[in-house]
Amino acid sequence: MIGQNPFENALTQLEGALKYLSLSQAQIERIKNPEKVISVTFPVVMDDGNVELFHGYRVQHSSLLGPYKGGIRFHPQVDMDEVQALAFWMTIKCAVVGIPMGGGKGGVEVDPKNLSIAELERLSRAYVRAIAVDIGPNTDVPAPDVNTTPQIMKWMAEEYLDIRNSKFKIRNENEKNMLMATFTGKPLDFGGSEGRTEATGKGGYYVLLSLLKKINLKGRYGEKLTVAVQGFGNVGYFIAKFLHDYGMRVVALSDSKGGIVVKDIKADSFNPEKVLSCKKEKGSLGECFGKSISNEELLQLPVDILVPAALENQITRENAGKIQASIVLEMANGPTTSEADEILFKRKVHVVPDVLANSGGVTVSSFEWEQNLKSEHWNASEVERKLKEKMESAFEAVWEKQIEKKVDLRTASYIVAITQIMEKFV
Ligand code: NAD
Repeated sequence: MIGQNPFENALTQLEGALKYLSLSQAQIERIKNPEKVISVTFPVVMDDGNVELFHGYRVQHSSLLGPYKGGIRFHPQVDMDEVQALAFWMTIKCAVVGIPMGGGKGGVEVDPKNLSIAELERLSRAYVRAIAVDIGPNTDVPAPDVNTTPQIMKWMAEEYLDIRNSKFKIRNENEKNMLMATFTGKPLDFGGSEGRTEATGKGGYYVLLSLLKKINLKGRYGEKLTVAVQGFGNVGYFIAKFLHDYGMRVVALSDSKGGIVVKDIKADSFNPEKVLSCKKEKGSLGECFGKSISNEELLQLPVDILVPAALENQITRENAGKIQASIVLEMANGPTTSEADEILFKRKVHVVPDVLANSGGVTVSSFEWEQNLKSEHWNASEVERKLKEKMESAFEAVWEKQIEKKVDLRTASYIVAITQIMEKFV
């Protein structure tokens, strides 16, 4: 867990929305509490022959709208509070964007950078064996998150198929495809969907463009809006790339080791594709273009749009007053604490909440799930069209709600989501 308890943060956000909803006590309890909490300890044989024990979690928050859906995170700071918060946010996210799935999340307390590829594979498979009875295409459908890749999803799906096949022989291709729907974010040649890798970034891009149509944001340094992105992983890279391709100026980027900023923020910009190849070649952003900058400095840069795309609790009571961006596009989950949220709202910063901004990932994951269940393969433009429609209509519903209730976009998202979830509550 990073900094403030993310589950407490999530509950505070929820309280903010409950004021606008007339829910019974049972309904409130239902949305606050996960339906099932799974905690596992499992052995992995390391390359040197020793056996190490690892701790993992899967939290199944709500199945009111469909099977639990949510990523698996491999990170040394994973703990139950974090996974519980992330599962709760998945419930809200699926409902905001209108997909027939509920919320879940998983994680393993591990630093994958300390593992060999073979150890990573054994750990991924062992985690699946530990939670196998609780997942399935109609029960719980995991996906990638921090430090989990399409390759890891492939190992997990293979392991799950083996487990199922050893119990009930898989009879045909359709049955196999259906079971493959248990994991999303798989590689394209292994039941994955077109557009999944970049989906979270693409979804955030559509949401941001929708917001820009509503507000008249003037760039600080002229027509081209400036962007700083914290976290240059899957999500951060793609959002930076799409905004750069659209014509915005990406002026700062960072990862866990620190960041870079352009020499002249008033005129220069990075090309994210070039930065990525440089990072791959040299091993760190610090050696790629521009000047070095800390993650904290990046957050406070004079830019138009700030995109936290790393981890929780980055914008806090301490630095919220110093954020200079007009828009905070939350591509990470839970990057803003509730205290910071209040400060930013008072300062009229538009915070586009995680449950809306980063819901493109789960949306295309749900497309992958649907394609596997139907033994179909949709082409890239079909996936993109459907994603765009979903993101734009989700944004519109949230935007109308925030005007109607005079609340921030996060509270509006929660109101929209919980209203839909509660229609299914007995
Ligand atoms: P990733 O592992 O690909 O990338 C994470 C990046 O953040 C890495 O570059 C890492 O170096 C960097 N990072 C870690 N700690 C940092 C710190 N303290 N300061 C700055 N950078 C730091 O993970 P991802 O899939 O891109 O996920 C990023 C965020 O987006 C997470 O909050 C995740 O939950 C959220 N998210 C991901 C998806 C998805 O589809 N992958 C979907 C929705 C939300």
